[in-house]
This record gives sequence, structure tokens and C-alpha cells, in this order.
Amino acid sequence: MLTAPFDDRDGTIWFDGKLIPWRDANLHVLSHGLHYASAVFEGERVYAGNIYKLNEHTERLLNSGKILGFDIPYTVEEINAACEAVCKDNDIVDGYVRPLAWRGSEMMGVSAQQSKIHVAIAAWAWPSYFSPEARMKGIRLKTGPWRRPAPDTAPVMAKAAGLYMICTMSKHAVEKDGWDDALFLDWKGRVAEATGANIFLVFGDGKLHTPVPDCFLDGITRQTVIALAKKRDIDVIVRDIMPDELSNATEVFVTGTAAEITPVGQIDDNHFIVGEISKTLMEDYDKEVGKSPANAATAA
Ligand code: PMP
Repeated sequence: MLTAPFDDRDGTIWFDGKLIPWRDANLHVLSHGLHYASAVFEGERVYAGNIYKLNEHTERLLNSGKILGFDIPYTVEEINAACEAVCKDNDIVDGYVRPLAWRGSEMMGVSAQQSKIHVAIAAWAWPSYFSPEARMKGIRLKTGPWRRPAPDTAPVMAKAAGLYMICTMSKHAVEKDGWDDALFLDWKGRVAEATGANIFLVFGDGKLHTPVPDCFLDGITRQTVIALAKKRDIDVIVRDIMPDELSNATEVFVTGTAAEITPVGQIDDNHFIVGEISKTLMEDYDKEVGKSPANAATAA
């Protein structure tokens, strides 16, 4: 379902230090960020007017810039205040915030040492990443055609625009055949993550297993879910997981700021239930983030 295009909406966007009309938040086509993917971004959720773990997201944004070799010209406090100002000015109570930083147009070519770093922040209402029906049944994943790259071939710890090229390609490839999302294996053939979310699996031992985040984002939601599981005395095992183990998993879910905790009903030919551990952690997550009851995962 298509919503209003993202360049043609009412509201304001924070752009290089000030709030400007939404439709005026434009950049030149000869921007380094567009041609050479020198851009980093964040995705944050607003629950009942509060941006969940805002500080962690802002710190990751600045760190992603550093990994790509640029300093974002604002402090953590300034970016935090800007995110909050955007939400306030656009009346976002339950929604999503997207800060973005990119190299500008001063230099065109691979080298761009003197390019200016720009920052924009937009926010919009965004209830659920996957459809509520798909979420409660469990989404369907198919192993995609691309693999998460080795840590010495890409800046895998940055939330960098360039790393999403293969996410879109993998997701499009499987959506064509009716699947909800792609499962990424990594360069070693291990189970890695989905195209915008980390993955957890429950096996017969009743423990939660999740891959070692050594070539993909150690998601903020992933870390929250590990802490919530520990509070429930559910053991969390971080280890290499191979795809032939998927047939032994009973429950699977993915985690991310946008995806929250979304159960997975199927990966390729393997089927899973939306079981007790998934449901418990979904409820705990809703409480943790301060989700209003009408928007709770289990209310969908
Ligand atoms: N992996 C990828 C590729 C992602 O895009 C995201 C979403 N940022 C995640 C994992 C989960 O990260 P987080 O929980 O910090 O949103």
C-alpha cells in the first residue's frame, strides 16, 4: 500500500540546524552522499511522545560517521534536542524518527576530504513495520541471494547507507515470490540477520540463541531483548548458527527499532510456532518501551 510520497508532505524537517518546511528539505543531485554512499542514518521510535533510547541512537549516528571518516558537526546533546524538536513541531506521539548525515557537493569524486557534512532529521507517524496480521502469525522469511560481507570488506559496524544496497536487493528478490523478508547468511555461511532486523531462535533446550554480531549491527533492540530475557531467567546463547540448524528451532523472531519483536513463522521450508518465549518477550518489550495499550503487539 502506498502512502503519500515522502517528498510531498506537510510538516517540518530539521535541516542543518533549523526547522524548515518539509517540501523544502532538498539537496543537490551532485551530492557525494548520493553518488558514493557517504551517508549514515538512524531509525528511532517514538512511544507516547518519548523517543526510546534516543541517546544510544544519537551516539551510534556519530560513531557511524566516524567509521566512515567524518565528524558530524553537532554534539550528541544538540542532535538529541533536534530529534525532540522535530517530534514536537510535527505532533508525533507514536512514530518514527530518521536522522541522516551525508557528505555534500563541494567535491565530486571518490576523494571528498573537504566536503561539508550535512544533517537532516525527519519524523512521521508509523505504526507497524510488518502488517499486524503477518506479525501475529509470524512473518515468512526466505534465504536471500546476498550475504552479509566480511568485516574487512565493508564498514559493517556503521549504520551506513551503502550497506543497505544488498538489503533492498535481497528483500525485493524474495518479495517477488510473496515472502515478507529475506534472511541473510554471512560471508562464512552462518545465519546472520534479516534485511533490517536481528534474529533470535529458540531450540528444544528452551534457551534463546542469537548469532555473534561480528559482521552486522549489534542492534539496540537486540541488546534490549537480551537484557529482558535475562530478567526472565531465560538463558541467552550468542554463538555461530548454521542454516541446517533452522529445522531444529521451535520459535524464531526478529528484533529491530522498526520491527520491534516480530515472530517468524517460516524460513524456507522450516516452520515455527509463535510460542511462549516470543509472546512473553513481546509483552515485556511493549512495557519496556512504554507502548500505549492500543498499539501493543498482542492487541493487533
Ligand atoms: N540490522 C539491520 C540491517 C538494521 O537495519 C537494523 C535496524 N537498525 C537492525 C539490525 C536492528 O538495529 P536496532 O535494533 O538498533 O534498530
